[in-house]
Amino acid sequence: MSYVDEVYERVVAQNPAQPEFHQAVKEVLESLRVVIEANEEKYKKEALLERITTPERAILFRVPWVDDKGQVQVNNGYRVQFNSAIGPYKGGLRFHSSVNLGIIKFLGFEQIFKNSLTGLPIGGGKGGSDFDPKGKSDREVMAFCQSFMTELYRHIGADTDVPAGDIGVGGREIGFLFGQYKRIRDSYEGVLTGKGLTYGGSLARTEATGYGLLYLTQELLKCNGKELAGKTVVVSGSGNVAIYAIQKAQQLGAKVVTCCDSTGWVYDPEGIDVAVLKDVKEVKRARLTEYVKARPNAEYHEGKGVWSVKCDVALPCATQNELDLEDAKTLVSNGCFCVCEGANMPTTLEATEYFQKNGVLFCPGKASNAGGVATSALEMSQNSERLHWTFEEVDAKLQGIMVNIFHNLDDAAKKYGMEGNYVAGANIAGFLKVAEAMEAQGIV
Ligand code: NDP
Repeated sequence: MSYVDEVYERVVAQNPAQPEFHQAVKEVLESLRVVIEANEEKYKKEALLERITTPERAILFRVPWVDDKGQVQVNNGYRVQFNSAIGPYKGGLRFHSSVNLGIIKFLGFEQIFKNSLTGLPIGGGKGGSDFDPKGKSDREVMAFCQSFMTELYRHIGADTDVPAGDIGVGGREIGFLFGQYKRIRDSYEGVLTGKGLTYGGSLARTEATGYGLLYLTQELLKCNGKELAGKTVVVSGSGNVAIYAIQKAQQLGAKVVTCCDSTGWVYDPEGIDVAVLKDVKEVKRARLTEYVKARPNAEYHEGKGVWSVKCDVALPCATQNELDLEDAKTLVSNGCFCVCEGANMPTTLEATEYFQKNGVLFCPGKASNAGGVATSALEMSQNSERLHWTFEEVDAKLQGIMVNIFHNLDDAAKKYGMEGNYVAGANIAGFLKVAEAMEAQGIV
């Protein structure tokens, strides 16, 4: 059995009932096969793959809090510090009822390679809880965040581990978490990113993941002799990533006709109105049925359906495994020629393979959504300098980083004889830097 297969089997055996983690490991190891086989003896002796697929530390903790009725509630808290070879652990916190250890491990594992691809000195980590802020009062969210941080604070720090937002963790939650950290530690430090602008946040961080996705998509299309302007785009999700992806796609001349949330989806033939969408999702925190009230020519449908809409470019920006093989077949038969992931692992392995076999330009999230974490790293730099950069400065750096990421993965794919396979390119480029740093630091 090859070393890659041996390690994959070990991961499955040692991490039972964690299908998302197995899926992420399989995708990465499969595309690294050529690199691993060229160095098999050395990597095997050093157990490099066993080490890179095992978190340096995984912290599980109880989060008790009191709801508005006086009832004590208990949630599970997680922080997985996966790999610190190239910098302090960095990765978001996810608050959603589906969160479990396997999901946090899949996200933390992906984060290692994503962070490496940014070219910035950040290691990989991820955390969160099965607490869902939806439907909770501000006081309940604050009570939960304070309890969560009362345990987490001892494991994080500006030079150790710097969490940020993810699904269910936006500006409100980061504010409550930061306030509690500062209170317990009596230290004003850049321990979280995605902070508000009045207390150390970076301009353009809110927009960064969605904008970065479009900067990379534009470069990918350009390098393949196509352009974004004038194209029809379908987007899934209606959260932070989706909203700013829609906004930037429209600024670059594309027409975005869909968005969705976990209960339904919208088709707006005239193009999504971002101001209305922001009002519904960021201000009212309401369902998408409110969107069509303000846009009478738009349609609202219950359930899943954005991938059935005819388009040139698809940008999945909601959650993992939201685009499966059937969806991929529909998109291809409708003429879609480019898919770039805004969410983490939104496309199943079968759907990814189908896109690649059918000539669709496909970019994995660990490259195309890296603008968020890259700008978080820029927030860390500003916090260390105690300076604020302008929106234009941060946005220009973000554009440069995304263009650079695309060329890194394009070059890596070409170098290893897999031109146009951006999944392999991203995994190889991300892996090589981390592997070299791990080897240089000895057996730790
Ligand atoms: P948000 O919580 O802001 O938004 C998530 C969106 O996805 C919401 O519209 C949500 O709907 C929808 N959604 C969640 N689950 C489903 C589902 N099962 N079916 C359909 N829609 C669903 O999260 P973000 O926008 O921050 O994150 C989206 C994705 O991007 C995640 O995969 C995240 O890991 C990834 N990402 C985020 C980064 C960031 O900077 N925020 C950085 C890099 C990656 P509802 O409101 O109904 O829950």
